Amino acid sequence: MDLDYLQMLMGEEEIVVEEEGEGYRNIWVVAERAGDELVPVTLEMLNQARQLASTLGAYVMAVLLGGGEALAQELIYYGADKVFLCDDPALEEYALEPYAKALGDLFTEKMPEIVLFGATDMGGELAPRLARRLGTIVLTNCTGLTLDAAQRTLVCTMPAYGGEYSEVVAFSPEVHPQMVTVRPGAFGRPYRDEYRSAEIEAVAVDLDGVQSRVKVLNVVAQVEREPVPLDRARIIVSAGRGMGDAEGFALVEKLAAALGGEVAGSRGAVDEGWIDEEKQVGMGGATVRPDLYIACGISGAIQHYFGIQDAKFVVAINRDEKAPILKVADVGIVADAKEVIPAILEALGA
Ligand SMILES: Cc1cc2nc3c(=O)[nH]c(=O)nc-3n(C[C@H](O)[C@H](O)[C@H](O)COP(=O)(O)OP(=O)(O)OC[C@H]3O[C@@H](n4cnc5c(N)ncnc54)[C@H](O)[C@@H]3O)c2cc1C
Repeated sequence: MDLDYLQMLMGEEEIVVEEEGEGYRNIWVVAERAGDELVPVTLEMLNQARQLASTLGAYVMAVLLGGGEALAQELIYYGADKVFLCDDPALEEYALEPYAKALGDLFTEKMPEIVLFGATDMGGELAPRLARRLGTIVLTNCTGLTLDAAQRTLVCTMPAYGGEYSEVVAFSPEVHPQMVTVRPGAFGRPYRDEYRSAEIEAVAVDLDGVQSRVKVLNVVAQVEREPVPLDRARIIVSAGRGMGDAEGFALVEKLAAALGGEVAGSRGAVDEGWIDEEKQVGMGGATVRPDLYIACGISGAIQHYFGIQDAKFVVAINRDEKAPILKVADVGIVADAKEVIPAILEALGA
């Protein structure tokens, strides 16, 4: 192996990104942060961008607005080959007009081939605005991204018809840049490699005459614990129709509270009126990837399994030993969930 390459792998040599070249190039991730932390979808996008980049023979560029060097360094640890840091005080808090101006100028100069945004409030607002400015289009809320390598086009899976179906849509080769928003939780997080090193380039932004049309008047601290969105939850306790009634469902809520987890459910639980649709897990609902998923009285239909296939550890409680969920669970308890859950609560001292 070439010694320079080995030194680069060992972190002794910085990755040198060649920016020379004609036309549209490289895969760009628009980083999003909440205060001084990167939001999880940013890391998930870096992971996916790395895979696309290795197929295309491209670099992964990240752009960070506000947030400072420490966060830019995190982007490198998680997979960026170079970070463009626009650290202007006007960009410390998200605001549409300054963010759109800073990114628009940068992308006009750098001509990215592909740009990934999170399908978040920020990405959902910024991406269409930039697409218009750059004369391109954006495909939104993508849950799958692959490449037609010959055409160098992105092939995107997007939920359609309220999530009942998925559409697979490809960009035309003449579309540049190819812009997408990526659904949080759709991809795994990359390994944080502290030995990676790369360049952080400070970008001067020209925000002369750019004014935000809204102003944050006050930030109110949340006194009560906010529920964690399902796609970020580390522990999920999920109810199915097999919980029988509201009393049975209340046991699931108690178990979730005792474990510090979130409550979710199957379509069966939605139909019974125990949970709202946004708490439904599966093809027509959320895709989750918790460390622990406890399925209580859920049959494990394929549409439900679709949403939990990346869960790290699945425990299923079902009284039917032939229930499909037991085939995919790491631990299966064949018993009445209304008896098992109180026993677990007792064991937890809750
Ligand atoms: C296009 C489409 C999209 C869909 N999207 C989704 C989706 O996103 N998410 C989703 O979940 N479904 C979805 N579905 C529906 C899916 O096919 C199933 O109908 C649904 O998941 C069943 O919910 P369930 O497992 O709660 O109920 P059931 O199928 O009724 O299963 C109940 C289970 O509980 C067990 N049980 C009963 N009593 C007890 C007890 N006392 N203790 C322990 N176990 C007990 C039973 O053995 C059974 O396995 C979709 C369907 C379609 C057609």
